[in-house]
Amino acid sequence: MIRESIGAVPLRLRARRFRVSAWRSRVRARVPGGPALPHYISQASLHGQRGRGFYRQLVRAGTGARPGAMAEWGERLAGVHGVLLDISGVLYDGGEDGGAAIAGSVEAVARLKRSGLKVRFCTNESQKARGALVGLLRQMGFTISEGEVTAPAPAACLILRERGLRPHLLVHEGIRSEFDQIDMSNPNCVVIADAGEDFSYQNMNKAFQVLMGLENPVLISLGKGRYYKETSGLKLDVGAYMRALEYACGIKAEVVGKPSPEFFKSALKEMGVDAHQAVMIGDDIVGDVGGAQRCGMRALQVRTGKFRPSDEHHPEVKADGYVDNLAEAVDLLLLHSDK
Ligand SMILES: [Mg+2]
Repeated sequence: MIRESIGAVPLRLRARRFRVSAWRSRVRARVPGGPALPHYISQASLHGQRGRGFYRQLVRAGTGARPGAMAEWGERLAGVHGVLLDISGVLYDGGEDGGAAIAGSVEAVARLKRSGLKVRFCTNESQKARGALVGLLRQMGFTISEGEVTAPAPAACLILRERGLRPHLLVHEGIRSEFDQIDMSNPNCVVIADAGEDFSYQNMNKAFQVLMGLENPVLISLGKGRYYKETSGLKLDVGAYMRALEYACGIKAEVVGKPSPEFFKSALKEMGVDAHQAVMIGDDIVGDVGGAQRCGMRALQVRTGKFRPSDEHHPEVKADGYVDNLAEAVDLLLLHSDK
């Protein structure tokens, strides 16, 4: 005979308790610092989407359904005076048709700007010149100006000038204009960015040949992301091609853009806020969250853009908080930060 109970607790009930307990753990993992399960939600109410949806509503509505959780978010966000916002995957998802704003992000940026917190945009976008990117975002309704954006191409131009480097460019046509004032005769380095369809064998091989022809090959990469998300799906990013050139040439690229500490520091300097007073909000667990934390900033990851559920269990990087989208991040900031 199959034994149906252990002690006084039937096996079926034990299994149900285990499921509830496992879900409770998942909620805690999903919302670090978020509320413990309120006692008035019965175990029975947790079965099915209705119960879970109700709990999520509690988390969102109160950004912490109990005072303890609010205190924890308060501790996490105390002393924040400035916010660095990633653009792709946080404000909008790019695409062939220009892309689309992420729901709630236009209003979230507007609220943040009205709040008194300092705001700066910190992007690795390297397919569009800064002016074109800002124009696109303004068309979508965002309040943003070119002077508020820290982007890798202008930062790379500064480095090229300072070091007398003349680049061979392996970049998207959309960003070539950023290098108009740079001497590109007789190249003594290669600059690689997200070239999209221009990452052909021919173009990769040309960059390889330029590097191999140099006594001291210099490869500058605008970001080193593995992939990003557009409206049509995930797209391979510059990091994969950068690694290919590193491998073939036996060199190490210099990264301009996130997660380079210099890049974050320049964004902080332009915002006029110290690292310990700033929070980064991004969709890239390594480039945005890990990079910002290594500079002494706090960082929230949004579950939009390239976010994947496995990011919340990343072996090396743990965000200070995970939020569903920028709108939720701004809700929390406006509740808990020092304005
Ligand atoms: Mg992003």
